[in-house]
Amino acid sequence: MHALLDDAENRAWLHGLFFCMAICLLAACSDAEGDKRPRRVVVVVLDSTHAAHLGCYGGVDGLTPALDALAENSRLFSQAVSNTTWTLPSTVSLMTGQLQETHGIVTNQHALDEGAVLLAEQFREAGFLTAAFVQMVYASEIYGLDQGFDEWNRYQLTVGIRPEGMAQAVADWMDEHADDEYFLYVHMRRPHSPYDPNPLFKMHLEEGCPLADGHLDETLAHADSRVKGSLSEVERSHVEHLYRANLATVDNRIRDILRRAQQDDEALLVVTADHGEALGEHGHYGHGYSLDAECIDIPLLVAGVGVVPGIDDEPASTVDIAPTLHELCGLGRPADLDGRSLVSRLQGEVSPRRSVLLSTRYNRSSIPEYGLIKDGFKVVLDREDSLKVFEMSSGEDVTGVQQELAGRVGELLRTRKIRASTLSASEGRTPLEASTEAELRALGYIR
Ligand SMILES: [Zn+2]
Repeated sequence: MHALLDDAENRAWLHGLFFCMAICLLAACSDAEGDKRPRRVVVVVLDSTHAAHLGCYGGVDGLTPALDALAENSRLFSQAVSNTTWTLPSTVSLMTGQLQETHGIVTNQHALDEGAVLLAEQFREAGFLTAAFVQMVYASEIYGLDQGFDEWNRYQLTVGIRPEGMAQAVADWMDEHADDEYFLYVHMRRPHSPYDPNPLFKMHLEEGCPLADGHLDETLAHADSRVKGSLSEVERSHVEHLYRANLATVDNRIRDILRRAQQDDEALLVVTADHGEALGEHGHYGHGYSLDAECIDIPLLVAGVGVVPGIDDEPASTVDIAPTLHELCGLGRPADLDGRSLVSRLQGEVSPRRSVLLSTRYNRSSIPEYGLIKDGFKVVLDREDSLKVFEMSSGEDVTGVQQELAGRVGELLRTRKIRASTLSASEGRTPLEASTEAELRALGYIR
């Protein structure tokens, strides 16, 4: 038929066709957008969760039944990583969609800039009620994380309201606001140390393990501040069991929160972690110093409105969460975003391989590491300023045969290192009150 038309008629016919298609597409998009926009958004952060321990990520069966059940209804990102390795910068990255060098919190002497645009501020501007329940000092108002929240509830480990009741308070809050539009941020301390699982979960402990006989060993409960080689193999095994039991405890605690969010057909639920936790792998414990898999591999489960359940095997990271919520909830998109929206991937599309930037530094005196995940490899500029290349699937050091990749990525990582050192030099120390110091000590950050 087209061949019978001359050029002018052909152009007019095609213009008409495209016009109709555009109108239909716009109508379809606006219908779909209207349908898929969540009225309630719940973000749950489980502090220090290395994804490999969750049943749904290939960990021990029966340890995390609530999270495993959620995974059945979620898009599970099997290659999710945190862009950095400790609570404060990682939480700010989650709330802003920015890397450490962009939001400027590169050491524990920094607080959030008042000019930063946080998810809560954007949700509030869009008419959502905003509420937070947090148990971690590094995710608190002391560092500016309360910006944009109508309701802010911090549960402290050392003073004030005991944290045990927080999950129930969250569930009650969800019932109370069941018909409202809201953004709810829940930051659970566990499985972060102290490794002090509820005795109800001692079935996850091995024989001879502290707490199995009713008492908690302070050294092992705070093993994340231990250095390489300071624990025996038996103690290391005990620490691993205590950590897992801590994870089982928090899985149980959040069960009712997850159930409420999943039963709400107008809600979107995101469950993730701010970083992982080393339990003696590579000779270290804890987090905040290394870009090894156990410190950056985190769970990322997204369920609810606009989500097609399934598994996504391409890289995703903490900074992608904010742009995803911007798009899914129709929020304004601020400038200087480092993350990318995962919305098409939540709907089941396969994304092309992409790069993820990593960094880790805790305090000004520590030497940072920088990294890039690209094409199935992780390139790390380590503390000795040498470049290492690891295969993502096996963790194997393949530096010897990937010199070209190391050289290409090395230049970028060195540029980032210089930029970050300039930032940390220009900022002053955040003064800490005595109660905050006590909290940080209880969490193992100060010895
Ligand atoms: Zn943390």
